[in-house]
Amino acid sequence: MNLNILVLPGDGIGTEVTREAVKVLRVVAEKWKHQLTLREAMLGGIAIHKTGDPFPVETEKLALEADAVLMGAVGLPEFDEWPPEKRPERGLLGIRKAMGVYANLRPVKSYKALLDSSPLKNEIVDGVDMIIVRELNGGLYYGTPRGIYEDGPEPRAVNTMAYSWSEIDRIARVSFELARKRRRKLTSVDKSNVIETSQLWRRVVVEVAKEYPDVSLDHLLVDNCAMQLVLNPKRFDVLVTENMFGDILSDEGAVLAGSIGMLPSASIGAKKPSGVWTGLYEPVHGSAPDIAGQNKANPFGAIGSAAAMLEYSFGLTEEAAAVNRAMENVLNTGRVTADLKPKGTPATTEEVGEAVCQGL
Ligand code: NAD
Repeated sequence: MNLNILVLPGDGIGTEVTREAVKVLRVVAEKWKHQLTLREAMLGGIAIHKTGDPFPVETEKLALEADAVLMGAVGLPEFDEWPPEKRPERGLLGIRKAMGVYANLRPVKSYKALLDSSPLKNEIVDGVDMIIVRELNGGLYYGTPRGIYEDGPEPRAVNTMAYSWSEIDRIARVSFELARKRRRKLTSVDKSNVIETSQLWRRVVVEVAKEYPDVSLDHLLVDNCAMQLVLNPKRFDVLVTENMFGDILSDEGAVLAGSIGMLPSASIGAKKPSGVWTGLYEPVHGSAPDIAGQNKANPFGAIGSAAAMLEYSFGLTEEAAAVNRAMENVLNTGRVTADLKPKGTPATTEEVGEAVCQGL
């Protein structure tokens, strides 16, 4: 298979962790005989330095030509006081919009070696393996009218939560497809006892479910779901929800895994005629200026994002599983970076990446 990938290392530790993820992709391509076409471009602070724009036109062009994009992280302290529209983070919104990614996937998996880093009891976290699917383009964050109105007797603020049938339909389909490749269980989360967008959400999900009789579907109200995520996280396989609920629940899910450096994410868009899904893959963490350039960053979030790319964009489940296994084996050896609090001397970013490659 031809793996046509654009790499955007970005800023800070983004460059260090993506380097390791790319090494892993090279090993996978060699071992499973895939043709790897890698290109690299600028995004974020480095792009502002070189071009004045956090999301240069050239980067946009290359992103649209690629099948999938692997991103590091953006953000540099020197831009912290700049207005939002000029900051490196604007590059993130730009690329997500340009690629039309509408489904944000956050895998949450517990690792035996990290059970003690979770704030929850071991027996609650042990065995957790779920994906939270968050709708990314609609709902309260984009709906209009919106604004703060100062023209009445007192200031008033308005936001609008809006969803169309087709917006719900496409995210439901992504979620059912994912569930089909996993334990065939989908939980749809809404607030249909109170709000109309959730009532439509539930109607559409029930309708789409008729095409997936092999997947069992249940519904949870978002307040109950927030509770179940900490009481019984193992009950979840795939969880789908709208934008704001997903924003909140995915951060709650993130805590289960222990360190922020562990977490991958994927944002999926349209399926191409070739069968490949357009996708943007990035670790959840930021550019971590406090440890940048020191070869200390945990590369698992980035390597896990590369594994997610193999699975979700290219459908290479065997290769993705092998990368995940290799990561888990490295975790079990205890030769991990400082954030995971190893017993002996912490491993460097490069050593961890190298160990995953060796494992493969
Ligand atoms: P951060 O995620 O960069 O760092 C938070 C803390 O976690 C820091 O102490 C850092 O050292 C640690 N950390 C993060 N990733 C790690 C890793 N892989 N290994 C070991 N330790 C790790 O968040 P922040 O400090 O709030 O933000 C720093 C910059 O990153 C800001 O400019 C922010 O806007 C940007 N940011 C970018 C993204 C993104 O690119 N998607 C996400 C969040 C923040």
